[in-house]
Amino acid sequence: MPDDLLQRLRSFHEHTFPGVQDQFQDLVREGQHPTILFIGCSDSRLVPYLLTGTGPGELFIVRNVGAFVPPHDGSAGYHGTAAAIEFAVLNLNVAHIVVCGHSHCGGIRALYEGVPPQATNLKAWLELGREATLPVQVTPEALSRTEQRAVVLQLERLMDYPMVRERVGAGGLALHGWHYVIEEGEVYVFDVKSGGFVAASLAEHSGTGPFRPHDAADDGHAIFNEIDSSYGPREGR
Ligand SMILES: [Zn+2]
Repeated sequence: MPDDLLQRLRSFHEHTFPGVQDQFQDLVREGQHPTILFIGCSDSRLVPYLLTGTGPGELFIVRNVGAFVPPHDGSAGYHGTAAAIEFAVLNLNVAHIVVCGHSHCGGIRALYEGVPPQATNLKAWLELGREATLPVQVTPEALSRTEQRAVVLQLERLMDYPMVRERVGAGGLALHGWHYVIEEGEVYVFDVKSGGFVAASLAEHSGTGPFRPHDAADDGHAIFNEIDSSYGPREGR
C-alpha cells in the first residue's frame, strides 16, 4: 500500500500532468522567463499561485520564515534569500519584486514571544524583523501592525542591494509590499504615497510600483520612519 505522499506523486503524474504537459514542455524548451520575484513567508496558508492567479513559469519564488530580506552586507555565508534576489534580478531580469507577509504570522509573533533555545538559526534570522516590533503589549492589532511594518522594512533593505537600487532607479524594476490577510482573502498593498496599506479591492495599483528611487541623501529608512509615525491602530489597513 503506497503511503499518502507516494499516492499524491502518482496522482500528479497520472492525472494532473497530462493536462499541463504541453505547457511544461514549452517552458523547458524555451526556458523560464518569470517576471516576478515573490519573496514570501513559508507559512502553509500563503499560496502565491492562488493569490496572484499565476501558473508554471510565472513566479520565481523564495520563501523563508517571516518573508525577510537579509542585508546586502558582503558577508560570506549561505545567504539563500540574498542569492535568489541576485539571480532573479541579474539573470532573470524580473520586472517586479513582491515581498509578501501575512496575518497570524508565527515568525512575527516569535519576535515578541521568543523561540525554543535550541533554535539558534531561527533566533538569529528573526532579528531581520526586530526593527518592526512595537513597544506595546502583544495584541492582535500590534501583531498586524508589526507584520506590515516588517514588510516595509524588507523593502527598504531590498533597496540596499546595488542591482535592485540600480534597476529601480532606471525604471525597470518595481517593488511591491503586500500583507495578506488570510481570513479575509484580501491582500493589502503598501502605498508609498500614503505610507499605509490599502486593500487590493480599493487600491489603484498593486503596491509601490515603482518604489521611489533611492535618494543618496536618505538614511535608507525614510519611508519606514514615515510609516512608523503615521500608523494608528487599524488605520489604512
Ligand atoms: Zn509567516
